[in-house]
Amino acid sequence: MARPVLCLQKPAWEAAWRLLRAAYPEEAVGAFVGRDCAEEAVFLPNVAEDPKVAYRADPGALLRLLRRLEEEGRELLAFFHSHPEGLAFPSARDREEARWPVPYVIFGLKEGRARAFLLPSEEEVGIEVVEP
Ligand SMILES: [Zn+2]
Repeated sequence: MARPVLCLQKPAWEAAWRLLRAAYPEEAVGAFVGRDCAEEAVFLPNVAEDPKVAYRADPGALLRLLRRLEEEGRELLAFFHSHPEGLAFPSARDREEARWPVPYVIFGLKEGRARAFLLPSEEEVGIEVVEP
């Protein structure tokens, strides 16, 4: 089977990098949303106890986003979060807490690199950035 691929429109990809860097040194979290190819990076408040080392998307904000997407006929295509000091690779906690059958995109800010994985399997998903 071919490797799965996550399609991101360039403005959504760039917005994610910009806002994740702006949140440094804290971890930030959000979702890529759209129809087939993500057209928007939506940030969700990080309500983790210590946002410098963990993330937890605000459940109320996530629920509101899901309702809005349903009304708009769009989908949550992937989650993303940053590792301000770490690598673009899932932590043990990322694997344990993953509940969604969508790719988790991890932005390693120090490396300047992002990689996407299905969790907890750690199957890597390709990232394709396209012009809108
Ligand atoms: Zn993580």
